[in-house]
Amino acid sequence: SDSYPDLKRDSRFKKVTKEDVEHFRSVLGSSEAAILDGVTNETGEEDFESFNSDWMRKYRGQCRLVLKPETTEQVSKVLKYCNEQMLAVVPQGGNSGLVGGSVPVFDEIIINLSRMNQVRSFDDVSGVLVAESGVILQQADEHVAKQSHIFPLDLGAKGTCQIGANVATNAGGLRLLRYGSMHGNILGLECVLPDGTIMDDLSKLRKNNTGYDLKQLFIGGEGTIGIITAISILCPQRSNAVNVAYFGLESYEKVMEAFKEAKKQLGEILSAFELMDAASQSLYHKASGAKLPLEAEHPFYCLIETSGSNTEHDSEKLNAFLEHVMSEEIVSDGVMAESETQVQSLWACREGISEAGQHWGGVYKYDLSIPLPELYELVEDARKMFEGNGLMSAEDESFPVVDVVGYGHMGDSNLHLNVAVRRYDKEVEKALEPWVYEWVAKRQGSISAEHGLGIAKKAYIGYSRSETMIKLMKQVKGLFDPNGIMNPYKYI
Ligand code: FAD
Repeated sequence: SDSYPDLKRDSRFKKVTKEDVEHFRSVLGSSEAAILDGVTNETGEEDFESFNSDWMRKYRGQCRLVLKPETTEQVSKVLKYCNEQMLAVVPQGGNSGLVGGSVPVFDEIIINLSRMNQVRSFDDVSGVLVAESGVILQQADEHVAKQSHIFPLDLGAKGTCQIGANVATNAGGLRLLRYGSMHGNILGLECVLPDGTIMDDLSKLRKNNTGYDLKQLFIGGEGTIGIITAISILCPQRSNAVNVAYFGLESYEKVMEAFKEAKKQLGEILSAFELMDAASQSLYHKASGAKLPLEAEHPFYCLIETSGSNTEHDSEKLNAFLEHVMSEEIVSDGVMAESETQVQSLWACREGISEAGQHWGGVYKYDLSIPLPELYELVEDARKMFEGNGLMSAEDESFPVVDVVGYGHMGDSNLHLNVAVRRYDKEVEKALEPWVYEWVAKRQGSISAEHGLGIAKKAYIGYSRSETMIKLMKQVKGLFDPNGIMNPYKYI
């Protein structure tokens, strides 16, 4: 593949033939909604573009066959056949993943889950939602909102990403601080193994201590051991009092103080604490044209959200907190949203950064867990590095790097380091990797806090996992997928 000069296609995998396509038609039907076929007909490259190419336009495969099953039985029949025929596959959701995991490397068949989009049940007493993998995150949230519940995950790509894939990537997002991770909220999964076996574990129980919790292996497994076809997830009560505030702060030390105070004073109603540096907000402003909430520029900004059940009680708490951080000069300026529209526009300043990163041409993205006291030092060190090696200039277009930007889920010690570039460039890559990973490993952080490993971080897993753990992961992979057909060439 042109995108992966260092990788060779595994010759054990068969190339898709006319007979294979005929077989898939017999399982899925012949409609275009079910099969995009460039093997037996002339379907052009451009029709495959949105399947072959990732969100960042950084990774590109050469798949000529996209299968879109509608039922678990169809997934089972498709996988069983692929396994017998040694046809490699890539499970795909909304293709918003940020580590190149959702697109093929060579000619793997894409199994796209978008047509498995039915809600199977929702119980408004327990809050348990059972739904198929292809339901879009935003739609899942809207569904449970009708009965005053909230999907316990929210992220910038909510309009395109799918809940099954959210589980497969163990997505973290904006409200993990409050609602916890997928590992805690998922009650059960229905998965199809490569040999076609359906593992029906759609439990609705919160407690079930009966041996190994196998579903956990699929959470964050990134489609390497099977396909998740449905999920059972615990959705909390939706808060009717939501407040959002946006602050400017003069130093990272003040951001940490503000976080400490927020935890102390807002306690159980704190639902998000997000960090944005000045560079990230100026990039968002340039890319989107949106006006920033505060007039003056500050080195740091943070966004705080509270969600509770009693408006009066929450406002009282929030006001006391605001008074305190302003009078102690922890925060230099701030605004509070006074309408739903303002809530959205404040959140956009945070959620819009990811997309804005692409503004100049491309972006190198790192999603890292770093102990809080050192979290922002990485951004400063990266800036120093690029100033020193002559690769960065805000104005001169002959330099590849435009700016280094830091933001993230402060409440979860999760930094997003983005290096905005005019073009993808080997020299920039060489300067960043493994430098970033070594920096993080030295501080006992994680090289992937929430985006996963995919192909982007395949070579670096050793910075966050020991030899023993990697060996065990390989054994698990071998047990579930002895032929290695599931999402090959990726991290495992
Ligand atoms: P895809 O990109 O299609 O797939 C992701 C991975 O899961 C691939 O390895 C794929 O093979 C596998 N997969 C997909 N479906 C299945 C399935 N049914 N069974 C088994 N494997 C499957 N991520 C966060 O964690 N937190 C954030 O805050 C966040 N913000 C983002 C903001 C933006 C603007 C964007 C573009 C991305 C963001 N992401 C974030 C990353 C991404 O949205 C998540 O990883 C998301 O969970 C991917 O969902 P998807 O449907 O797009 O999956």
